[in-house]
Formats: sequence, structure tokens, C-alpha cells
Amino acid sequence: MICNSKFIFVTGGVLSSLGKGLASAAIGALLESRGLSVTIQKLDPYINVDPGTMNPFQHGEVFVTDDGTETDLDLGHYERFTHAKLGRDNNYTSGKIYHAVITKERRGDYLGGTVQVIPHITDEIKSSILRVADKVDIVIVEIGGTIGDIESLPFLEAIRQFKADVGKENVLYIHLTLVPYVGTAGELKTKPTQHSVKELRSIGIQPDILLCRTDRYLSQEIKRKIALFCNVGVEEVITAKDVECIYEVPLVFHNEGLDDRIVDILHIWTRAPRLEAWEQLIQRYKTPRHDVTIAIVGKYVDLTESYKSLNEALYHGGIANEARVQLKFVDSETITPQNCAELLTPADGILVPGGFGSRGIEGKICAAEFAREKKIPYFGICLGMQIAVIEFARHAAGMPDAHSSEFDPQTPHPVIYLMKEWLDEKTGTVQHRDVNSDKGGTMRLGAYPCNLSPDTIALRAYGMQKISERHRHRYEFNNTYAEKLQNAGLVISGTSPSGDLVEIIELREHPWYLGCQFHPEFKSRPMNPHPLFKSFIAAAVRQASARPRGTG
Ligand code: GLN
Repeated sequence: MICNSKFIFVTGGVLSSLGKGLASAAIGALLESRGLSVTIQKLDPYINVDPGTMNPFQHGEVFVTDDGTETDLDLGHYERFTHAKLGRDNNYTSGKIYHAVITKERRGDYLGGTVQVIPHITDEIKSSILRVADKVDIVIVEIGGTIGDIESLPFLEAIRQFKADVGKENVLYIHLTLVPYVGTAGELKTKPTQHSVKELRSIGIQPDILLCRTDRYLSQEIKRKIALFCNVGVEEVITAKDVECIYEVPLVFHNEGLDDRIVDILHIWTRAPRLEAWEQLIQRYKTPRHDVTIAIVGKYVDLTESYKSLNEALYHGGIANEARVQLKFVDSETITPQNCAELLTPADGILVPGGFGSRGIEGKICAAEFAREKKIPYFGICLGMQIAVIEFARHAAGMPDAHSSEFDPQTPHPVIYLMKEWLDEKTGTVQHRDVNSDKGGTMRLGAYPCNLSPDTIALRAYGMQKISERHRHRYEFNNTYAEKLQNAGLVISGTSPSGDLVEIIELREHPWYLGCQFHPEFKSRPMNPHPLFKSFIAAAVRQASARPRGTG
């Protein structure tokens, strides 16, 4: 098979959460810094067709790409670390693979044949990998799960076969393992790594490079031991040391010689890496001039993974303002009008993120009211914007029963509702929604255009009138109430080009109060912070400097 790309497969062993996604993203960044073009794909062994319907407690955030695919949160890392344009072909699950094969079987594509894991499922996996290839120099493919899981076997078999298909000089296997420091023995232990590599070799994959996650640098002696037992060169044993800031990972890998080894093994000639921008970023991150605290009022507060992109976007906004951003997660279910002030103090900014379901809604409304009245910068994202509209309708526009029909279908004032019919300006089709619509894949998803109004926080932040942002929601601002809310002081500062859909609202008599129907966090990058996050953190910095001493 002739293919213009080379392939790096990243697997993980010993245990999950070692940072395989980050490692893949950092490898992408390093290769880009040497002038190569990359794309990154995630293959997830679970059966869900996409993660859109999974509980964020289990799975973490659902990341949305421009083309409206609901994907694994690792794609967020890939986009933040590289310039790769990701979409539907960059994330495959077992469910999606099987769905494709079963659809073909029903259509009669395999008439007469027995449809099997090998070769039908493995062939489908290999075609899915090839779908993102050819247009880039390097395709990095991360295999979800941990070596030894039953469900990842078809993926591992497919990537094993892949080497024979495209030629051994075009394929590289990287395996991420753990080298724990055992306090009682006073030493680093290599056995888990040896076992994990043994398991990988038993299914026919000999890793070329080992990334060893550890809390300290591996000595040459330890590296030699790992190399001997795992059948790799000493140079191919890389310390993946814990870091304070995730954007240090490419630098740590580079110092360990990872990118040199990769280009060497894949027989690629490149320029020397240019990592100045990463170095400057870390420098800025580590020497802040201000400190701000942002209260995130949400439901999945126990698990910061649920708000991965959001947290990163806030840090990016911090780096842009030379501010250290402290996040204070407040469980909206615990907020009442009585304890609101106490729970949200000291916060220099309050953020209500996206969410689904009625749990904790009243607490979020309290937080929005507190921010509006006490003039604390407020940023409402998706559900957070809807909350701001409900709060304003109730307490500033004389509609005490206002609500979203998502949470109270009987409300006399559904200021947020399910728009029955709307023009999808992306596809040019009229979309229909009702309460019986399927839960999967019936949302307004992906990039939609938005026009900004003059003399608004939004326009000042973006510095341009036409923008495009990513969506993931079903409910919309109800235009029936637009006039009434505007007369009471609500500003509609962004709409769809036709004017039908309200995309941004804000308040004037307030230092910074803005809600957007889209998810700006998905497009923020460390080197290119999102304008709304940059502007919000700037407002929080002003708020913090105006705060009387000793109150935080
Ligand atoms: N639940 C709301 C809706 O469906 C908001 C969704 C979100 O915040 N992503 O419109």
C-alpha cells in the first residue's frame, strides 16, 4: 500500500490516566516545531457510537469539533497543542466501527461471507486510520484504554497489521507506562513496565519507544535495565516526568531526546525544532504579576475533567493577562440565597458553565443574581447564558415565574425554549425539534456564524464583527421576550446572521457581564487565548485590584 504519511501509534500500559492524550498531543507539538504537518486520531474501545450521551462523571468533557462531532476530551488536547484541524474522522469508537461494519452487512456488502473481527472489523479500523492520512506528514494515533483490556484487542491487532501494510519504515509504536517510586524500598520500580511491554509483545507489537511516567528523572542505570528487559535501546527509554504545567510536556520530551529518536526511526529529515514559543509560554505562566480567583458554579464540580477545556481556557486567559488563575469549584446544588455571598467570596469572577438537567439550577440562578447585583464579572457559557437570561427576566424584567422550558415545561414565561423550527445556516435546511426528539445527535452542534453588535463587550473583545463559534445545546433564547428584556436593560450583542438566534447577551451597567450560547472554551489555545476568556480574566484582574486588602 502506498501512503504519503508516516504513522505513530501510542498505547498505554499499567494503568489509565497516565496522560496518553497529553503525550500524543505533545508529540504532535514537537513534530510541528520541526516543520512537519501532523494530525492526531483517537481510537476508543468503548461501544458508544460517540461520547455525546455519556455521563461526564465517567468520561469527562465531551469535546466538540468545528464539524459538530462530539468527541473524546483528548481531541481538546490535540487541538490545543497543535494546528491540526480535527473532525469526525479523528475519533472512532468500537461502536462507530461496528456500526459501519453491521450497516455494510445489512446492505449486503459481504453477501455469502461470514463477518468476523479479523478481517472485517480490523479492516474497518485500518480504513478509518487511513481516512485521516495522506494530507499530512505524520498521523499520530492514540489507542484508548490500557494494554490487557479485552475490548481494545481489535484495535491493537489492526495497528499490528498496519506495519506490514504500509512498510516498517513508516510505522512507529510508542508505549506509555508507569515507573513508580516506592517509598519503602526507596527506589523506582521497573516491573510494571516490563509486564506491560511483555503483554504488548504477546500480541505481536514490539514498542520502539517507551515513555516512562514518573515523578523523577530516570537514571542511566534504570534506563539500561528497562531497555534490556523490554528489548529497546537505552536512548528509546524516555522519562515522562510529572510537570507543574501541562504545556511543559513538549519541552520535557524534547530534553529527553524524544523528537530526535522519532525522526530517526521513521527516517525523516527535518530542521531543528523551534521551541521558543513554548519556552516563553512557560516563562509567562511561571511568573505571574496578578492573582485572580474564579468561581466555577457547576454540577460536576467533583471532577475537574468534566470541564477540561474550560479550565484550560481560563488558564490561557490568565497567561494573556500575566495572572495566576485559581479555580474555586462551587457545587451549585449547595447554593441558596442565604449562603450565596459566603460561598462565592472571594471570587474576582463568577463563571457558570454549560450543563444539562435541572439539578442545581436554582443555585446557578442565585450565583448569576449575586454577580449582577454585586457587580462581579460574570461569564455564562451555554447553560450559563440561559441562566443569566432567566435570572434577568425574573428579577429585573418583572417575570418572577420565568424559566427555561427544559426545567419547567409549564412556565408562563419560557424565556429559553425549544425552538420548534429554525433555519440551520450551516446546512441551509430547516430543522425541527420537539420534546420527543432523540437525545443523541439532535442538538445544534459545531461551528455556527455569529454577527456582533457595535459598542459591546463582545465586539471589543473579538475586535471583529463576524465570528464563528462551536455549539452544543438544544434550547434557545426565546425572541418573543427580546423586546421586554431589552427594555429592562439586557443587551443582545451577538446573533446568527439572519438575526433569528440570539448568541450573546450582556449588561451595560456592569463591569463585565456576558453570556454566550456557544462554547468558546473549545477554541482557546495557550498561544492564542480566546478573546472572551482574555477579556473576562482582564476584568477579574481589575476586580481583584479593586478588592480591599485582606479580603482574599
Ligand atoms: N441544557 C441546555 C440546552 O440544551 C444547555 C446545554 C449546554 O450548556 N451545553 O440548551
